[in-house]
Amino acid sequence: MLDTANLTGLNQEEVIAARTKAGWNELPAAKPVGPIRVFLRQFSSFLVIILIVAAVVALALGEVVDAIAIGLVIVLNALLGFVQEWRAETALSALKKLLDPLAMVLRDGKEQQIPAREIVPGDILVLAAGAKVAADARLLQSVDLSVDESVLTGESVPVSKDSDADTVLAGTSVVAGRAEAQVVATGTATAFGKVADLTVSVGLKVTNLQSKLGQLARQLGIAALLIATAVVGLGIAVGRDALEMVMTGLSLSVAMVPEGLPAVVTITLALGATAMVRQKALARRLQAVETLGAASVICSDKTGTLTENKMTATAIWTIDRQYEVTGTGYDPAGHIAADGQRLLAKDDAVLAQLLQVGLYCSHARLDQQGNSWVLVGAPTEGALVTLAYKGWCELPENRNLIAEVPFSSSRKRMSVLYEHNGQATVLTKGAPEQVLEISTKVMTQTGPIEITTETRSQIEEAYAALASRGLRVIAVASRAVADQTIVEDQMVFLGLIGLIDPPRAEVKAAIKGAKSAGIRVIMITGDSPITAAAIADQLALEVTHKVTGAELKELDDIELTALLRKNVLFARTQPEQKMRIVAALQADGQIVAMTGDGVNDAPALKKADIGVSMGVRGTDVARDASDLVLLDDNFATIVRAIAEGRRQFANVRKFVRYLLSSNAGEVVALVVNIAIGGPLIFLATQILWMNLITDGVTAVALGLEKAEPDQMRQPPRAKQSSILGIGGVGLIVLFGIYTGLASLWIFFQLLEQGEMLARTTAFTAMVIFEKMSVFAFRSLTLPVWRIGCFSNPFLLGALCLMIGAQLLAVYWPPLQTMLHTVPIGPDQWVMIALFALPLIIVPEVVKTVRCYRAA
Ligand code: ATP
Repeated sequence: MLDTANLTGLNQEEVIAARTKAGWNELPAAKPVGPIRVFLRQFSSFLVIILIVAAVVALALGEVVDAIAIGLVIVLNALLGFVQEWRAETALSALKKLLDPLAMVLRDGKEQQIPAREIVPGDILVLAAGAKVAADARLLQSVDLSVDESVLTGESVPVSKDSDADTVLAGTSVVAGRAEAQVVATGTATAFGKVADLTVSVGLKVTNLQSKLGQLARQLGIAALLIATAVVGLGIAVGRDALEMVMTGLSLSVAMVPEGLPAVVTITLALGATAMVRQKALARRLQAVETLGAASVICSDKTGTLTENKMTATAIWTIDRQYEVTGTGYDPAGHIAADGQRLLAKDDAVLAQLLQVGLYCSHARLDQQGNSWVLVGAPTEGALVTLAYKGWCELPENRNLIAEVPFSSSRKRMSVLYEHNGQATVLTKGAPEQVLEISTKVMTQTGPIEITTETRSQIEEAYAALASRGLRVIAVASRAVADQTIVEDQMVFLGLIGLIDPPRAEVKAAIKGAKSAGIRVIMITGDSPITAAAIADQLALEVTHKVTGAELKELDDIELTALLRKNVLFARTQPEQKMRIVAALQADGQIVAMTGDGVNDAPALKKADIGVSMGVRGTDVARDASDLVLLDDNFATIVRAIAEGRRQFANVRKFVRYLLSSNAGEVVALVVNIAIGGPLIFLATQILWMNLITDGVTAVALGLEKAEPDQMRQPPRAKQSSILGIGGVGLIVLFGIYTGLASLWIFFQLLEQGEMLARTTAFTAMVIFEKMSVFAFRSLTLPVWRIGCFSNPFLLGALCLMIGAQLLAVYWPPLQTMLHTVPIGPDQWVMIALFALPLIIVPEVVKTVRCYRAA
């Protein structure tokens, strides 16, 4: 028997007493990575090893100043790495807090949602399909409960729990049914608490982008070692100073390896995830931030994501009378009228029965809070309860719920068995097709009549008419039974109720935005094809093919693939069919974002490239399976998150290209210089200064670029698109050659005036060139007047700061000693400026011309 009326749960005092005894319902957190570990981790990279070798070599050769300079660089680099990684770690753990689980409990006679950690022994858990069990609990009552215990047992087949003595365990999740269960153990006292492995720390997972960049760094590392060895060999062979050559070789390898890249990417993605939360999208995995930018299809459910999920009954249809309903939301102020006349349940027997089914066959409840009414439960049911209130439907004094066959998205109907004055009645509500299927009679004002072909088509026409207005249609039926078991058969069809669920205001624009960004939107709903098409129409979502779940079953994979290339909408689907749709789209080369909120959606969410779950109405199981949680359940948020993902990826590309172009310039200058036999152009410490300080800071600022204005008017990037791209490689080579040769020319021009002056000017020239090149890398296609001169103040700030640092490097004695520089005069500055100007002007002119040509 299921009767929550007898249960009240704990009151506040009992909760406090129980908590004093048992503590909070939580497991000791996995040991976070401490700051010292994060700091020490900075010394394990390839770059640092090269630097340490360089410092030791310098020391061995008596170059104490160089050794100290390199040592300082090592420490500074470690500090910078530490600060950035620490920021990423703390940003991520702040995001994790947002995911803290909630649980439904019965306290003070009321069902309420509370943070799971506040649960105490004695609490009554209210469990429904998709919920994660928050503590060990003994079942008090249950209906068709089945639980997935694979977390504890490894057994993936759900276990059904039907005996009242059964227990449910923390960490497991409800696959189907409903139950109330009394908590017996919390926190570490639970079976899960005893086995949970707490030694695993929550670290930063490696995403595709990071591993791709890691690979790039390794390849460059090997190339660097080979080139450096060759250069050293070459230098010594042509009779150069061995010490100088070894130092150059080491610097050259440092110059070539973008070791810091994977870390910068982690930070960019972690900060990107934080930026996404501001847009109401919570990335559960960093991978999502990156993959989102490449999404080419969004498969979205309708109810709650495209629509508000705020249901109000507006129309009622019975075979011989139709009714209109006034009022909005869950406020019972409003009335039911037929032929212009207000009606109450007592005036109309058919209406009375119809309203009763809506009221009793439901778990929803309305609470009055001040002047407003708040729904506890599912919106569809809330609308029916509100409707019953509007018709003053009578509440029997001793209603007695005996049994229930719960609603599921697969069955699309639910039934309950009630006993009233010794008479048992089955009440059913659900999708009209599902209710009609089990009905043999239809109720008229003068009593039930057999359903004939004619009456059936009358019902179907009425259903289509309501649905084509975009209403969600629920059918209700009932039947008196002799014994106390539910039989969903030979029911009397009572009528149809049309619920309005308005489209969300922002969604129309978001669908348009997705379209211009080359992202297709496919609606997959459990609702009827007519309702779905009407809503699609209201949202200006183009649909040429409507396919039901039953029709989808008949299609083979080739037909499905062909269909998925058209503007298709799926209705009356089974949740399991989402999986097939994802697989077919992926096999066709698409990157799929798929939404889901139910327990049966979890496999499809895992399979999709980006599984999207709902923060407000979703189940725990769906959330656990997803990569992205929409904190506001809104479709528009997915499109905003995609825009953010695209920006992140574009920015990673920008700073990778920029850093490599700077490295290329240095390598060109060093290698050509050695080949033509000039004295060393850059010293090891100078190269370190350029790569780790002046370029590093500029690159981080480049990672903060705003989205390019036409970012969401471009098609999604290809699945396997490389980070550099052909255009990027071209730019890196061109800039490398120009800056390398220009600094070399300056060096040779000034060599007569002294090696120190020539070297300092060439070094400063290179720094200035690298700073000026950054504008070209802000966008490969758009000139600065399109992206805005001042749209990235961080970049301008970083440039000023780094030019200031270079002035110190040239004019401040301590840095002069460390970097082996001498002051340079106005002539040298003019020379540098003349060579630097084309770096700003030429790319802008080329981009402007291209822009006009394209327009
Ligand atoms: P979407 O998949 O877009 O969220 P949906 O909410 O209509 O759409 P389901 O929740 O699977 O999908 O519902 C499928 C159908 O089952 C609904 O169209 C409705 O006719 C019926 N239905 C929904 N909720 C209930 C309920 N609580 N009781 C009985 N029938 C219901």
